[in-house]
Amino acid sequence: MADTITPRDQDYAQWYQDVIRAAKLAETSPVRGSMVLPPNGYELWQNMQGALDAMFKATGHRNAYFPLFIPKSFLAKEAEHVEGFAKECAVVTHYRLKEEDGDLIVDPDAELEEPLIVRPTSETIIWDTYSRWIQSWRDLPLKLNQWANVVRWEMRTRLFLRTAEFLWQEGHTAHATEAEAIEETRQMLDVYATFAEEWMAMPVVKGVKTASERFPGAIDTYCIEALMQDGKALQAGTSHFLGQNFAKAFECTFQNADNEQEYVWATSWGVSTRLIGALIMTHSDDKGLVLPPKLATTQVAIVPITRKNADNQATLDAAYAMRDALEASGVRVTVDDREQYRPGWKFAQYEVEGVPVRLAIGPRDVENGTVEMTRRDTSEKESVQREGIAETVGGVLESMQAALFESARQRRTDHTHVVDSYDRLKEVVEAGGFALMHWDGSAETEAEIKAETKATIRCIPFPGQFEGVDTEEAGIDPVSGEPSERRVVYAKAY
Ligand code: AMP
Repeated sequence: MADTITPRDQDYAQWYQDVIRAAKLAETSPVRGSMVLPPNGYELWQNMQGALDAMFKATGHRNAYFPLFIPKSFLAKEAEHVEGFAKECAVVTHYRLKEEDGDLIVDPDAELEEPLIVRPTSETIIWDTYSRWIQSWRDLPLKLNQWANVVRWEMRTRLFLRTAEFLWQEGHTAHATEAEAIEETRQMLDVYATFAEEWMAMPVVKGVKTASERFPGAIDTYCIEALMQDGKALQAGTSHFLGQNFAKAFECTFQNADNEQEYVWATSWGVSTRLIGALIMTHSDDKGLVLPPKLATTQVAIVPITRKNADNQATLDAAYAMRDALEASGVRVTVDDREQYRPGWKFAQYEVEGVPVRLAIGPRDVENGTVEMTRRDTSEKESVQREGIAETVGGVLESMQAALFESARQRRTDHTHVVDSYDRLKEVVEAGGFALMHWDGSAETEAEIKAETKATIRCIPFPGQFEGVDTEEAGIDPVSGEPSERRVVYAKAY
């Protein structure tokens, strides 16, 4: 039988873990914070990768690979960067084990001259390389991306959302001018927002982080923020304008068109396997995983209803014919003709795994030219004609993708509130949701609110993202009583 899933209103955190286990997306491993990704989880990541990678290429980026190990001295070169990452670094100090009294110990004679850091992010190693690759304005812009794993020794971990090792991509670009680098930073944020909304069916708010939430070493951190079903926010992607900080730390200069030496301008941007957590907490329900069709590895599962000791050939043939028709129209489809599992078991399995459409075909359907179609998001079941099945299913997949986005957007609208008093802020963030409140711009007010309510400023939103609310209108910060230039987005976050 399929796993049981704890209802969301009973225990949301347990529900989240149950969905992951039942859908076979990830497992914990002997090392805290490290995940095993079985095929269902890893292929979902690959589907995301495929879509993002195409978008990176379409915006002029190429892929490259840089080493996992970074000399400790590299990290020290950019002061804020080292301060930000030192606390969570995995450090390699030895390169050999030996046996002693029947025990395996770290060989004290095999100590590295310089300890190595397992990359928590690759700005340092990449800017060390760029300083050799970039000489003249003709070498710019340099726009590279790396798909890799990174390690940040997180203390409180949660599958996908916050792990010690995670998979991600990191873009690192080099530019001749400040304006061009800022444009790149913004462009990649837009790419992330488009991916989140069009592929993940997850609405996001775009904005800038406050200084306290900025990437260590960045001038500005732009982000996309999403609201999960339980009313908590999740930072789903970041794009950093790094100014000339890393170029200065790694002596990366270029000769401009007037023959003068200038420091290079930099950006970096990343999204991680955290997006899988975001996807789960945006769409899934008490029955298990719900996947937007565009990212589902299997979009349609066909289950032939066969009988023991009977001639099932006609049913199987009809199932294969549907598969061929669907495949020909570009749908990712499987026929589950395994005899060792009963149809009911298969239905339950596809439900918890979030397969968008299930087609069940039995002997009566074979006679009638029909098939029973079940849609995962609404659980609606209907008998449809097999003729034209590719068009029918194509239409359902499209409308499901749109419906998932629409219901997530509606939920966010319902849980977004304009807030003009501290009491109301507490109420809104406690109940779960985005609070649009004035902020005086001071780190003290931000810290005070965080200490008392656990809510943080998710971002200073770009204008025009909330219907009927002008976040750019000046006002008064209700907490400090000081003037405020605009409203910001407060929420409790993962
Ligand atoms: P950063 O380099 O800190 O801007 O992070 C880049 C991306 O990785 C962001 O989209 C984060 O959401 C994500 N991320 C950061 N830390 C973790 C973590 N411990 N586990 C999973 N994803 C993470």
